[in-house]
Amino acid sequence: MTFARRWPLAFCFILLLTGLAPRLRAALPATAPSAQAPAAQAAQAQPAQSQPAAPQPAAQAYSLPPDRLAKAIALSRIRNILDIAGSLWGLVFLWLLLATRAAAGLEAWARRISRHRWVQGLLFFAAFLIITTLASLPFDIIGHHFGRSYGISVQGWGSWLGDQSKALGLSLLLGAPILLLFNWIVRRWPRRYWLGIWVATLPLLALGIFVSPLLEPIFNKFEPLAKNNSALVAELEKVAARTGTNIPPERMFLMKASIKTNGLNAYVNGIGATKRIVVWDTTAGRIPNDEVLFIFGHESGHYVLHHIPKMLAGMAVALFFVYWACAGFAAWLARRFGALWRLQGQEDGPAPLSSRAGFVVLLFAISVAGFLLTPASNAFSRHFEHQADVYGQEAIHGIVADPQKTAVAAFNALGEAWLEDPNPSPFIEFWLYNHPSVQTRASFAAHYDPWANGGRGQFFDK
Ligand SMILES: [Zn+2]
Repeated sequence: MTFARRWPLAFCFILLLTGLAPRLRAALPATAPSAQAPAAQAAQAQPAQSQPAAPQPAAQAYSLPPDRLAKAIALSRIRNILDIAGSLWGLVFLWLLLATRAAAGLEAWARRISRHRWVQGLLFFAAFLIITTLASLPFDIIGHHFGRSYGISVQGWGSWLGDQSKALGLSLLLGAPILLLFNWIVRRWPRRYWLGIWVATLPLLALGIFVSPLLEPIFNKFEPLAKNNSALVAELEKVAARTGTNIPPERMFLMKASIKTNGLNAYVNGIGATKRIVVWDTTAGRIPNDEVLFIFGHESGHYVLHHIPKMLAGMAVALFFVYWACAGFAAWLARRFGALWRLQGQEDGPAPLSSRAGFVVLLFAISVAGFLLTPASNAFSRHFEHQADVYGQEAIHGIVADPQKTAVAAFNALGEAWLEDPNPSPFIEFWLYNHPSVQTRASFAAHYDPWANGGRGQFFDK
């Protein structure tokens, strides 16, 4: 639910839940989630000032000067390779943990250390999270390296490693107990455990969205937006009034992104008492206020159009079938390879999946499903993002002079700041993009004028 192509936080959370967090971090070399912070990076790039973006007439709505274009194409290729390779490596690595019997060995080690089952479990899952994080670290390092060399990131290696460590600490603190809980559910209900895990996932997801704003200050500094941008806040309130969102100035924050990145972004997150809007300091003050208003309008759209509850509902439905299918797949894997992988059967039941190492089989199955479903989840996300774009453009109608021009300029600033490829291959967009490509968004914005000839927008009467 961000303006730039970052992962929705809830999605990060489910990946964390399912032990896939490393894959996620590897997946995002350049436009990393702020919470997991790694790669968000930037550099000497000019603060994305509105470079006269539309060159020749009838040209593309989003375009880059030749030198930036060459960089954008090269960097996009690197990102895409890292993304797909990182995902596949995540799957291969889980398989290797099982096939080399490392998972079984880890379980035996945890048993030797403590007699208490829950201590064994915590040890096992903590070690598991550390090992998988280390396994994905090379991808993260390569991603950060290129983020720096292409001028997206300005974050030093020390600070970057610090963020990685904090992310790992957080995943140990939150992820290990959650995995232990899920593992316990498998033990407790060996036949219908997938239903139990599904029931447990839903409140955890909602809780994850609720607490994510509270965890973000671990990685980045925030200040009230009104502190140094009071003129902007006054403008934003006009948009807030038009959209009917009750996001008061106290819920508007400025994130000090500029010490880490040149990328620009803004997002809405949290629910209920933690709901708020965040604008990066690489955005407010660096691009014209009108464009920030458009971004704010887009973000407000996610709230007004209830995208977070809808996304949660969609995930709930999808996960029901995913967990069900994964339970079947994992059971088959355990039957086929259980002896080879030394999965220990339960004393009181037939299910080797309920052992710690057996749980890794389940995580593997869920990871495979997650990988295969990436295009589907991204398609949903792109749909919501497009709706928010429409909403954003309508929201600033009557407030800025020319909503079309403003939106196109904002997309050009966004694309140039992140070095987005103006012409990604359709397959890459289909598989990897959780936002429509900047080109698609800018072209739509350039032509979207529902008020022409006395018409009206989709979301506003006037
Ligand atoms: Zn968005």
